[in-house]
Amino acid sequence: MDPIKLVLFDLDDTLVHFDDYWEISVKETFKNHFYTKDMNEHDLFEVFNKVDRFLVGKLDSRQISIEEYRINRFLYSMEQVGETSDVETAIDFERLYQSIGKKNMKPNMKVIKLISDLSNHYRVGVLTNGSKGWQLDKLEAIGLYNVFPNEYIFISEEVGHEKPSPEIYHHVLNTASLQPEQVLIVGDSIENDVLAPIQQGFRAILLNNKDTQKTQISHPLTIITELEELRWILLS
Ligand SMILES: [Mg+2]
Repeated sequence: MDPIKLVLFDLDDTLVHFDDYWEISVKETFKNHFYTKDMNEHDLFEVFNKVDRFLVGKLDSRQISIEEYRINRFLYSMEQVGETSDVETAIDFERLYQSIGKKNMKPNMKVIKLISDLSNHYRVGVLTNGSKGWQLDKLEAIGLYNVFPNEYIFISEEVGHEKPSPEIYHHVLNTASLQPEQVLIVGDSIENDVLAPIQQGFRAILLNNKDTQKTQISHPLTIITELEELRWILLS
């Protein structure tokens, strides 16, 4: 088997963790946005969180676009608490949420060190679904933007295809001029980061940091519970 040349990391819930910034950022946005500042941010968060989960399902099954998801999670939440808002306010709310969210994402020095160490032996990059601006903002906020070379930051909006469609993995191979077995993907989604890439001939490691996916796994594959384990796998 060809040696690994490129290690690609998923971003959301692999390098940056939703639970670290989501609740605190949404509540802070409610407290600071002109439209919601007089409402109770804890009650609003409960509603917003439920609406968000519902719309994530629709987004994942491609029934709505990312823009519709972002606008509607605000509009539907307001509707649920008896307020009528509009698209412009929803966009403004989202903008404030993103700037607050970014502030609440913190660099993890251990992860930065790990990826820098890996970059002495492999090419390293990111393969993520999402919009370009917001995903780059996150990378910057967690101190990893400069650790990954630009040409190996693959964002679905820019590529024009999303994981798990085969085209996005092919795009990686064409860009890096590599064979699939020379590329290792590390991520928390069994479908997007493991099964779909393996089907295209890639290597993959599942980051099972939430311990929720064990029962779904029937394939023999490498599972880690924290990124630091990559040292033993890739650097020893
Ligand atoms: Mg992920």
